[in-house]
Amino acid sequence: MFDYKKITQSTDLYNLHTHTQFCDGHATMREFVAEAIAQGITHLGFTPHSPISVESPCNMTLDSVPAYFDEMEQLRHDYGDCINLYTAMEIDYVGVGDGPASDYFRKLPLDYRIGSVHFIPAIDDPSTMVDIDGKFQDFKVRMGKYFNGDIEYVVKMFYSQMMAMVEEGGFDIVGHMDKIGFNASQYSENIEEEPWYDKLVIDLFENIMDHQLIIEINTKAWLQRNRFYPNLKYFGMLKRFNAPVVVNSDTHYPTLINSGRMEAIKLLNVL
Ligand SMILES: [Zn+2]
Ligand SMILES: [Zn+2]
Repeated sequence: MFDYKKITQSTDLYNLHTHTQFCDGHATMREFVAEAIAQGITHLGFTPHSPISVESPCNMTLDSVPAYFDEMEQLRHDYGDCINLYTAMEIDYVGVGDGPASDYFRKLPLDYRIGSVHFIPAIDDPSTMVDIDGKFQDFKVRMGKYFNGDIEYVVKMFYSQMMAMVEEGGFDIVGHMDKIGFNASQYSENIEEEPWYDKLVIDLFENIMDHQLIIEINTKAWLQRNRFYPNLKYFGMLKRFNAPVVVNSDTHYPTLINSGRMEAIKLLNVL
């Protein structure tokens, strides 16, 4: 049984955001379990990028969902005595009715669900969904190709998608809530310091709190880029409002399963 309070309130090591062979991860679920046990992790959640209605090489296919559940069952059988394993997904919000709230995802027997935005509509063609996550080199090309270089449109659309996802529901944990900040701030330096940008994050935060969702502190970029999602400057707000949080490494490599997590937890505690 997934009980995030029990997991986060104990001193147990956990990671609830893990990518494997079922999406764009670089190792098998079995290899992740072995490494998690070696690193002393006692709660491990798998979150393949969900099947999606748009072209995406990073997401799992509908056809592979049964194999994912089968592999979980096998791993629980083999390792269930030494680690708690959770069957979950990182579900993409694409648009109205096409995200975690859809019937398909609601009916899947998952232990929990992360809701994330990685795609937004092109500026002149709402039917073209564009990946705004990932490497800045790709983002820069897409800024010209799909968004006419309008970074304000991209940022506002990202948060509008996040807001719509929160409104529609169907998930437990909000994945990397200000992820666009990474690419946006490389495209337009200090954009995250602008009041209108800050307001988008705060409005989203308030909406998440109203809907009693769990906020993920995503530590994937800590080691290489020295940043968390949400940005460290919002940790104080999370504490002030006593926001429910989970700290996840969003790892695609077994060795990084705990990467950045201790640093984030320490910073959260000293604030
Ligand atoms: Zn993600
Ligand atoms: Zn992820």
